Amino acid sequence: MESWVSDNVLKCRSCGWGSSEELNIYMCPKCGSPLDLEYRRGDILPELRDIIRCRDGIWCFQQLLPRYRYRATLGEGFTRIVGLRVNGVKVMAKMESQNPTGSFKDRGAALAVSMALSMNAKAVVEDSSGNAGIATACYSKTHGVSPIIVAPSTAPKGKLDLIRLCGAEVVIARDREHAATLAPRIAIERSGAYLPHTWLPHHIEAMKTIAFEMHYQVDELPEAIFVPTSSGTLLLGLYRGFKDLVRLGYRDRIPRLIAVQTRSFHPIYTAMKGGELEPEEENLADGISIKRPPRLREIVDAVNDSKGDVVVVSNQEIKRALKELISRGMIVEPTSAVSLAGLLRSVESGSVFERAMVILTGSGLKVVQRMIEIVQP
Ligand SMILES: [Zn+2]
Repeated sequence: MESWVSDNVLKCRSCGWGSSEELNIYMCPKCGSPLDLEYRRGDILPELRDIIRCRDGIWCFQQLLPRYRYRATLGEGFTRIVGLRVNGVKVMAKMESQNPTGSFKDRGAALAVSMALSMNAKAVVEDSSGNAGIATACYSKTHGVSPIIVAPSTAPKGKLDLIRLCGAEVVIARDREHAATLAPRIAIERSGAYLPHTWLPHHIEAMKTIAFEMHYQVDELPEAIFVPTSSGTLLLGLYRGFKDLVRLGYRDRIPRLIAVQTRSFHPIYTAMKGGELEPEEENLADGISIKRPPRLREIVDAVNDSKGDVVVVSNQEIKRALKELISRGMIVEPTSAVSLAGLLRSVESGSVFERAMVILTGSGLKVVQRMIEIVQP
């Protein structure tokens, strides 16, 4: 295959290190910080009629995304916004559960797998057994590159089955830490690309498309968006996407970004408000369970700049929100209900919202048995 050189640049915000984009550089080689991706981009959004006809998923916004010679897509994005009313509160829900493999992670997989394909990776390696692992497995297999998913032995069988069904080879590690050390090693051995979604800047850049879509979908942007937050990919992507909309003159302000976390894992709360909350025995929101997000400082800055906030919810609140959603036919996973739980908690503590939005991050259809256990005690 002919060689191709990326004109995108990896850049470290902490120490200033920079280099053109290469496979398997996912943290700053000088200081260990997460990296950003800098790239040439256009300055206009597509016309509405072109958007309606476009069949290329996130690549409908290719002018505003990094350039690659191959563009992987399964038709992700352009998820619906659905209106609902819960306890008298009007809510807009962005249905990220409608993506091809059932979660917002498909947007990031489309971009990260495009990068791996363009750089001739022979395999793609991820150490997630959740939505990111499923998305990576399906996107790489369908575009002709072998997926290898490294999962801890405790990973839920249902999700591993889906990863195998997508055609991935599954390597079982002792635990999460072991998986994280094994995955980059396997990538090197197999001339592959390690695509850690919590570190790669590609996943953040891809999430900007959610903000771009909203520009076409609503007359007035929501005043506040409640975002389940763990590694911050989704929140940071929304932030950068809205900043682009303002910079390009499409909008004059960005929505308040409210990070919602759980009693079990709330590093953003601790960084912004101080103190640790008593963790709960079980964490119903298994999709957001990171103790030390690599981009913590950046998440806090984004929340502050948007005049946002951080809210912590309990399992009881997640359960209640999940029941409300299911009763409206919205079969989303428990982690998605975290956003609605955060909104209800804010309203109960006196906040008033005219146009609040929740991001429903993933489908509940992958975890039906678990959902039954949660909502029918
Ligand atoms: Zn650095």
